[in-house]
Amino acid sequence: MKLLCGQMLGSLATWLRFMGFDTFYATDQMGDDELMQIAKDEDRFLITQDKELIFRARKRDILVISIYSTDLDEQLRSVISKMVVDIEQILSRCSLCNNHIIPIKKEEIKKRVPVKAYQNQSQFWLCHQCNKIYWRGSHCDQILKKILSFQKWVIISFYICFLHQKMQCLHILLEF
Ligand SMILES: [Zn+2]
Repeated sequence: MKLLCGQMLGSLATWLRFMGFDTFYATDQMGDDELMQIAKDEDRFLITQDKELIFRARKRDILVISIYSTDLDEQLRSVISKMVVDIEQILSRCSLCNNHIIPIKKEEIKKRVPVKAYQNQSQFWLCHQCNKIYWRGSHCDQILKKILSFQKWVIISFYICFLHQKMQCLHILLEF
């Protein structure tokens, strides 16, 4: 299921992208009508803390996830309680622009990453939309640990993983 985060929910949008959700993030220039139209046209859950927007969106039969807390973990729980996380999609998207990142040959990005990262890492990924390069640094460990702290969906995701016999995903996550 695709998502649309309203204004002031940038951190939440970033984390939902880390988790692999297709997440549109509203810019400051977008009005409520435009957001509702995008949610409707692209079949996205509208995630917002704006009570008036929640009311208007529901009247237009737009699926809404209401956010009541300013705490990021609470916000994430509000969304994840209504979603099934696809374990294969974790860290598959660019956190800046939502595009899928794809593997790139190490030698092609040599001049664009820190020397230490180049020496220590064997795999790199590129976002073709914004040109950002990703690798599994210590920040990835922190991201995965945080994601794993949400016990409820981890159990669901592990179950799905077993169902599809995607043992490779489990091996990655069990390291943490
Ligand atoms: Zn990008």
